[in-house]
Amino acid sequence: MTEKRIIGLGTWLDKLAARVIEREKSLGRNLDLIRTEAGIAASGVVHLGSMADSVRAHAVCLAIQNLGYRSETIQFADDMDGLRSVPKEVPTGFDRYLLHPVSLIPDPFSCHESYAEHMENLLIEALKMVDISTTFIRGFEAYQRGTFASQMKQILLNARRIGEKIREITGQDKFLETLPYFPICSSCGRIYTATAHSFDSKSGKAAYKCRGVRLRNVWYEGCGYEGEASISRADGKLSWKTELAARWASLDIRFEAFGKDLASSILVNDWVSREILNYEPPTHVQYELFLDASRRKISKSRGGSVFTPQLWFRYAPPQSLTLLLLKRIKGTRVISHQLIPALINELDRLRNAYLEREGHPKERGLYAYVYNLRPPKEKGMLAPFSLLLQLAEDAPVGDEQSFIEARLRKYGYALNAETYERIGMAIRFTTDFGHVESRAPVLEGRVRSAFAEFAERLADTETAEDIQQLMFNTARKHDLEPSDLFRTVYEALLGQPKGPRLGPYIIDLGKERALARLRQVLEPGAAQNL
Ligand SMILES: [Zn+2]
Ligand SMILES: [Zn+2]
Repeated sequence: MTEKRIIGLGTWLDKLAARVIEREKSLGRNLDLIRTEAGIAASGVVHLGSMADSVRAHAVCLAIQNLGYRSETIQFADDMDGLRSVPKEVPTGFDRYLLHPVSLIPDPFSCHESYAEHMENLLIEALKMVDISTTFIRGFEAYQRGTFASQMKQILLNARRIGEKIREITGQDKFLETLPYFPICSSCGRIYTATAHSFDSKSGKAAYKCRGVRLRNVWYEGCGYEGEASISRADGKLSWKTELAARWASLDIRFEAFGKDLASSILVNDWVSREILNYEPPTHVQYELFLDASRRKISKSRGGSVFTPQLWFRYAPPQSLTLLLLKRIKGTRVISHQLIPALINELDRLRNAYLEREGHPKERGLYAYVYNLRPPKEKGMLAPFSLLLQLAEDAPVGDEQSFIEARLRKYGYALNAETYERIGMAIRFTTDFGHVESRAPVLEGRVRSAFAEFAERLADTETAEDIQQLMFNTARKHDLEPSDLFRTVYEALLGQPKGPRLGPYIIDLGKERALARLRQVLEPGAAQNL
């Protein structure tokens, strides 16, 4: 048997971290501090996509540290962006701020300095819930300090070459006529409506005229003002096709991921970084996209179906969200509440594997990253979340809490703080979403025949003890380990492999209901009228 060498903790994060380090070595760059970066959109309510960028950039940084190098994560808030549409959460009347930079719009909820700060804080708070704090840079402040002034100078001096490259890569020819720079019109206060047409490198100023702009097929008329914008102040921002390059070179970024939709923009930025700014661009990976329930890309600006981290935390432990974001990077994923029960079950399974040192090393590694490499050590049998959901569904309305507590006591589960929290989540989940069907186990061979016989003879049992006995006898008769049969029956009844002692549990559930579910698993589609 050949044994594969395990890098770090064996997850994709470790492989990626090793790749970043190897590349930095081969480039001959100094390894004193390896920075990862995530960009944060500040123009709308934070959604799972923006959370994903931050959590992953941070996890890659942890993986680099774990391989013995200093690393930090920069979160860069794109708060010079103009407001393209007003999210439905925002009070009416904000239409008048359309295309104004979000850092210069007041906070619609009046609790922060600006619109952007309010939105940025939603993400910062969500990251706090999963114990992540990183270096945070606000775009507006960075431009105001002149952080990118020298890169901007190079970019604007080479605007013609860049415009041609943009046309070559993306087909877009607008930067053949205008500079890749968006000035804020100092008369009407909007960005994008003003176009910069010339740059004076001596004064560091770009001349512009507010002509108007077409965005998503809507024409925004310019105010006609002509003025100058300084690259040493927050008078404007670089276009998307060049700003990343300026950021990488200026902040010395060695890793930045991107979503598939930005692929061509990344190609341009890589070229600008290398050819114009003489800075080898960071290692990239392309991430999966998150789709909403209607299979569209989750977007901050489109109202209606945004699944926010805050919403997730109402129904599930924060780490179940980190698990979703760190599990894998490829493919697309539909985000809805239906993912929640399975992810909590998986989190519990990984916890068990971690504490018992069972399973594949990479699963234990994933669990460690979910907890920022400091996973809790305490053991204790947690009640399965699917059991809590079932109990919440069965409980008399208005009396859910005490009903669930009484059942958990009866089944011998510890009622600790974590369990109380989860009871609350299960009740909210059931109240807001109703029943979510769990996936049925696949039945094959001897397990199938034993399962079928157990289902057939369950009706004849009377007591909880009878049911226990029936399970052991049936397993033996079919030459199975009792634990294999138990696991399958729990999967059928609860959607996960462990549960309370089966006899008393089936009595509480009701034998008829248990039977109906077992039959449904044996013959999917046959028993629709439960
Ligand atoms: Zn606020
Ligand atoms: Zn204007």
